[in-house]
Amino acid sequence: MTTSTARVPAKINLALAVGPRRDDGYHDVATVFQTLDLHDEVRATARPDGQITVRVHADVDEQVEHADVPTGDDNLAVRAARRLAEVAGVETGVDLVIRKVIPVAGGMAGGSADAAATLVACNAVWKLGLGRDVLDSVAADLGSDVPFLLHGGTAVGTGRGERISPALARGSYRWVVATAAEGLSTPDVYAELDRLNAHREVPDPQVSEDVLTALRSGSPAELGTMLTNDLQKAAISLRPELRDTLDVGLGAGALGGIVSGSGPTCVFLVHDEQHGLDVSFALASSLTCADVVQARGPVPGARLLS
Ligand code: ATP
Repeated sequence: MTTSTARVPAKINLALAVGPRRDDGYHDVATVFQTLDLHDEVRATARPDGQITVRVHADVDEQVEHADVPTGDDNLAVRAARRLAEVAGVETGVDLVIRKVIPVAGGMAGGSADAAATLVACNAVWKLGLGRDVLDSVAADLGSDVPFLLHGGTAVGTGRGERISPALARGSYRWVVATAAEGLSTPDVYAELDRLNAHREVPDPQVSEDVLTALRSGSPAELGTMLTNDLQKAAISLRPELRDTLDVGLGAGALGGIVSGSGPTCVFLVHDEQHGLDVSFALASSLTCADVVQARGPVPGARLLS
């Protein structure tokens, strides 16, 4: 049976402006995304009977099933494979195996990343030969972060985040990523933001020129002072201990630190590996987070490995 494997990075938002709640319940956003080299892998093996299945593992040996990720039709990778099969008129099925590294419900778009990797792997395993434009439009149907995770790099996202255009970014950045033991639900964080904003006029979202200028400069010190996230106050309102995590990272000399997307993962910009080790050590010994890893960005989006 033919098998194809795709690898996909996590994303963070360097800036995230959230507009007012729309009548359909969604919010327009204006964001700057960057991919980090924390990768999930999705292996797709064709099966003749038309069924689509998924298994999710937390370990390289694929012995341990990941407890927090659904394995039915609500898995975003399954939804991606099903949608691609419909669009391309495919009747072959696929067994998907996800090797999960991206924190689940961590504000790093792990589910969307798996959907993007599944589109790439299934396009190969089903020998569809679909171009980027078709994959982009299927991706946009699946979720607002999926198109960015197909492309990767550093980009501006508007609409619900699904309309992306590349951002001119010089150089490479080093991040310290502090994960929490328990995830936060993205809809809950948006609902909390609406509650906090109930008595104020929320402007239409815009990406500040300052963050784009900092990215063009290639200076981590400049970028560090420009990190912003409108969802941060809502994430902290639901999880007050995130304030402690941010204070520890910033107190240890990080150039900037924010909650990533809807949280609860916090990310800290650092100068280099040694600086990253200092900030990581402070975070790990503070016991204000579950795990600490270093990562680099930007990196390419979903790519075929084999
Ligand atoms: P968002 O893209 O909304 O910021 P997130 O990064 O906070 O999301 P995800 O890891 O994408 O969170 O998971 C959100 C929820 O989606 C999880 O609680 C999980 O139940 C569900 N889910 C469905 N498919 C997947 C998948 N392949 N990987 C991870 N989570 C998945």
